[in-house]
Amino acid sequence: NFSLKQLQTMDAAHHLHPFTDHKDLREAGTRIITRADGPFIYDSEGHELLDGMAGLWCVNVGYGRKELAEAAYRQMQELPYYNSFFRCTTATPVLLAQKLAQIAPEGISQVFYGSSGSESNDTALRLVRHYWALEGKPQKNIIISRHNAYHGSTVAGTSLGGMSAMHDQLGGAVPNIVHVMMPYAFELAMPGESDHEFGIRAAKAVEDAILEAGPDNVAAFIGEPIMGAGGVKIPPESYWPEVQRICRQYDVLLMLDEVITGYGRTGAWFASQSMGIQPDTITTAKALTSGYQPLSALLVGDRIAARLVESGGEFYHGYTYSGHPVACAVALANLEIIEREGLIERVRDDTGPYFRQVLTERLAGHGIVGQVRTFGLMGAIEIVKDRQTRERFPGDGAAAVVVRDHAIAGGMMMRATGDTMILSPPLIWTRETIDMAADRILRALDLAEADLRK
Ligand code: PLP
Repeated sequence: NFSLKQLQTMDAAHHLHPFTDHKDLREAGTRIITRADGPFIYDSEGHELLDGMAGLWCVNVGYGRKELAEAAYRQMQELPYYNSFFRCTTATPVLLAQKLAQIAPEGISQVFYGSSGSESNDTALRLVRHYWALEGKPQKNIIISRHNAYHGSTVAGTSLGGMSAMHDQLGGAVPNIVHVMMPYAFELAMPGESDHEFGIRAAKAVEDAILEAGPDNVAAFIGEPIMGAGGVKIPPESYWPEVQRICRQYDVLLMLDEVITGYGRTGAWFASQSMGIQPDTITTAKALTSGYQPLSALLVGDRIAARLVESGGEFYHGYTYSGHPVACAVALANLEIIEREGLIERVRDDTGPYFRQVLTERLAGHGIVGQVRTFGLMGAIEIVKDRQTRERFPGDGAAAVVVRDHAIAGGMMMRATGDTMILSPPLIWTRETIDMAADRILRALDLAEADLRK
């Protein structure tokens, strides 16, 4: 057993962390999470934290599920690994594919596996371009995405994504990807513009990009139904139906990235079902296994899958761990828990509406809160200096970091992204957990306001 200090020293010496300022990390010292149970995580000092982020938007069934450990153990003993290349497969990826076809939106019945959301988006990008090549239209290869989108950290994921800081460090993006405005009314709606009007205008940006490139050159549009890492940006209701209509009009494929919104978070298996969107591909990962194993599944619509099969010839793409038998066994057990415990219905009918009610009633009127928005069990709290004008505190997101640090010190794990605090808790949260979270967030907001207005 190593002490906290020893682990921190080794961490500083050898471990480069994702999305981390290492100078800052060295100064602050790494927190070591040692165990977790239900909705709580615990660090090496014994602090208990309510996990408002379900890890990284993934631990939907909560921590400490022995069933999932047992599913992995059983599969590892029986057959730890075999691939699904050269006309082989193991059984669990097949069973999982069948299950996914059953819960996927209509018109989607095929699955391509990877180990992460990023890999899955790489697959999606290559697959839609391959589709159009098979259709005899190889020039139809431009993908339209949105500013501030997050689609992963691989070169393709970063290129599809719209985060400027990531692009700046990329040193050469995948070509033929263009970015249009995001449907973020809080900052981008014009004075007097209704949410509905703004949603139509944001969708029109997609049409403008299609027309500028020429519809014969545009393969697909990609978007998160609700932008997650970009700040839980919930589009106006008018947005997705209009984007869908535009894609159909110009024969542009619709790719949804449901890496965060998939598997219950919005009160349906997929946000496309909550929002009535009919995509051609759905990228999923994270909560597919509730994070207990790395696994992603690209759900592929029948139009693309049929062309792939009918055309014959190899799709030169795949990963060693595509359809990993252990990860798929865990996913099957995880989906079974979600179903058996009625977690999706609970989010839809009970905890989702209660989450909105409590956050709105208790936090939306706070002195440094400009807006609270939720969808299912996703939430965002906009931190502002002036509630009327929506002016932000100086320092580009520094204020939200102050809130976050107070939240964590007070036992509430949540994330700051830009000037927005975000929440994406496990779906096992009850009304009591939501009340507890609201208490802790309120305290953090009070303490942060006192600091920020000093
Ligand atoms: N797409 C979205 C919407 C995500 O939120 C993420 C990760 O947060 C990814 C893709 C990338 O997934 P991964 O980190 O598993 O590669």
